[in-house]
Amino acid sequence: MKDKPNDLAERLREAIDRNFEGQVAFLARMVQFPSLRGKEQAIQAWLAKQFTERGYKVDQFSLADIDLFAHPKAAPMDDIPLEGSHQVVATCDPQGKGRSLILQGHIDVVPEGPAELWSSPPYAAGIKDGWMMGRGAQDMKAGVSAMIFALDAIRSAGFAPDGRIHVQTVTEEESTGNGALSTMIRGYHADACLIPEPTANTLSRAQVGAIWFRLRVRGTPVHVAYSETGTSAILSAMHLVRAFQDYTRALNARAAENAWFGEVKSPIKFNVGIIKGGDWASSTPAWCDVDCRLGLLPGETPEQAMRGMEQCLADAQKADEFLRDNPAELIWSGFKADPSVCEPGSEAEAVLAAAHQSVFGSPMEDRLSTAVNDTRYYKGMPALCYGPSGIGPHAFDERIELESIRKTTLAIALFVAEWCGLREL
Ligand code: ZN
Repeated sequence: MKDKPNDLAERLREAIDRNFEGQVAFLARMVQFPSLRGKEQAIQAWLAKQFTERGYKVDQFSLADIDLFAHPKAAPMDDIPLEGSHQVVATCDPQGKGRSLILQGHIDVVPEGPAELWSSPPYAAGIKDGWMMGRGAQDMKAGVSAMIFALDAIRSAGFAPDGRIHVQTVTEEESTGNGALSTMIRGYHADACLIPEPTANTLSRAQVGAIWFRLRVRGTPVHVAYSETGTSAILSAMHLVRAFQDYTRALNARAAENAWFGEVKSPIKFNVGIIKGGDWASSTPAWCDVDCRLGLLPGETPEQAMRGMEQCLADAQKADEFLRDNPAELIWSGFKADPSVCEPGSEAEAVLAAAHQSVFGSPMEDRLSTAVNDTRYYKGMPALCYGPSGIGPHAFDERIELESIRKTTLAIALFVAEWCGLREL
């Protein structure tokens, strides 16, 4: 369609309003699936059904269906079975003549922690004062609902996008990125990609990379009465964690030189996420496993960060009487994520900025992200990360503002209309 109707934005806005109750119910249903790592099959089957009902061509596959580890960017999956990790790619308008697009969202969520620390049950998807609460509501099932209902609104307003669109719901975003990577290995490409992570309607301009590792300390247990003859794996692990913290401070001191993150205070985050060790209050602990995450900045590769961490560990072990003779094992347990920059000046970005301006009445701003997102995999195309606004990702009482979902859905619909073009139904 050459000339878009002048009232296109209005017609899309009306369609989104008309469908909004249904969109909120759809989001609530998604939040009610506790789609923790390795437990995403149920929501993916449900989404595949939703896409089929919309007339999209659905490809549901698992990470075991592709040659994942032949790819150099595949990250270790620890003990998560590949065949249980399902991906869904729904394709609409495969014959369209306009520019093609990937709309991608992850449906894996991080653990909710103790339910009693939430003010309402973490998977209840309750709504209060215009906000929906729940694990995954913000990160990023709201964005997934926005990309799906943006396409619904276009149809409901009497149009169809004129370019091929792949709607992808993936797993592993929170741990490896292998879900997004698998869609590329499976052969899905397009002229642009949009991932509606909850960026508070800013464009993620640059993001850090990340590596995951597990430190495995082993020793000889003795009765606490003879503790000087045994070892404490927990105390040795603490020694190593302090060394990693010092190392991170040194990395952050150097970060002031970084072209993208120079102005950000301590952009490299080191996190001890899980600690397990020992089994008896009166035995010196013989074992301790510590799961950690370290960020890295544009200009560095995950492999360089991994070598740096190995060196830090080797130096720290030399300074510890027990570890000198019983070195800890370092296991790469997940993310090997490259940092990534959304290069300014792409036409896709200009189209998104115009859509944002039209919905919000103000220019789209940039953000620098000290967390990773999946855009890093979409090579050879502009990959934009832009989505709704919420509070508390990975925390208790994670929640999303419903009004922000409504506006984001309209911004995505306008972006799709301009990027792919429309044809009248
Ligand atoms: Zn996310």
